[in-house]
Amino acid sequence: MTRRHALLIDPVASDDDRTDVADTFSAVDPSGPVLSLGELSAQRGDGVFESIGVIDGHPQEVTAHLERLEQSARLCDLPAPHLGQWRAAVAEIAALCPTGEYVIKLILSRGADHGPAPTAWVTASPAPDFSRVRREGVRVVTLDRGVDSGASARAPWLLLGAKTLSYAVNMAAIREANRRGADDAVFVSSDGIVLEAPTASVILRFGDRVVTPEPAAGILHGTTQLSLFAHLASRGFEVGYERIPVERLRRAEGGWLVSSVRLAAPISAVDDRDIPLDAALTTSLNEYLLSPRD
Ligand code: PLP
Repeated sequence: MTRRHALLIDPVASDDDRTDVADTFSAVDPSGPVLSLGELSAQRGDGVFESIGVIDGHPQEVTAHLERLEQSARLCDLPAPHLGQWRAAVAEIAALCPTGEYVIKLILSRGADHGPAPTAWVTASPAPDFSRVRREGVRVVTLDRGVDSGASARAPWLLLGAKTLSYAVNMAAIREANRRGADDAVFVSSDGIVLEAPTASVILRFGDRVVTPEPAAGILHGTTQLSLFAHLASRGFEVGYERIPVERLRRAEGGWLVSSVRLAAPISAVDDRDIPLDAALTTSLNEYLLSPRD
């Protein structure tokens, strides 16, 4: 039985009031020829996406992901997605994911050049095995993102808060981190403020206070970080958004890279300086993230 699936979506307008959208998407062969060579997603990375974790058939935090898809589309001047249509497509493809961990990707592209309509599709595939990094953690290096912490407000066309398909820079940062002997990177603004990892949010613990960089600094607002903050607050931790100078990152009493599919990977070192790894807290955070969440 194939473990990869794809649905091609014929996007309907966000204000379309039909309730049955099942005939607006159709199963396609995930490894077959489906998209046109004129696709602007492929030519220019011009589109937005979401990655949703699926645990034992349950897609996690679908509403938060759909809301961010809507926000990314708005920032990129793409037609607003019909959330009911995307939700139905997610449910249909999640039903094909058996036990274990899967990733569902939602992609909304500007479309094929010269064509008037966006292209959209959803895929599901088995998630990589992240059990070791969830346990042993990741060594990170800080990398200058080359923009200051005011760039997002001053130059919104940089799309720093949108989850666009243009991830070549993010992938280059991970390769640079690997060249420097680390597993991953943490972007820092040119004025020394902690931002995010190339594919994850950064959360840091100082005593009973857990902090993360403010989204206004020009980072993606992570659904996993939001969910974990609600969980940590319910356990008595104080949580907050802060402007975090890079020196403070190096002095953290605990830290994690958090994202929808890798979940919580503890940070074991920053720029070769060890960070305490709290195995019990990390295990409990991942247990929470692996439990069904809506
Ligand atoms: N920041 C960036 C740049 C990301 O690519 C991601 C996820 O891929 C995140 C943060 C974390 O977002 P989420 O927790 O919603 O997966």
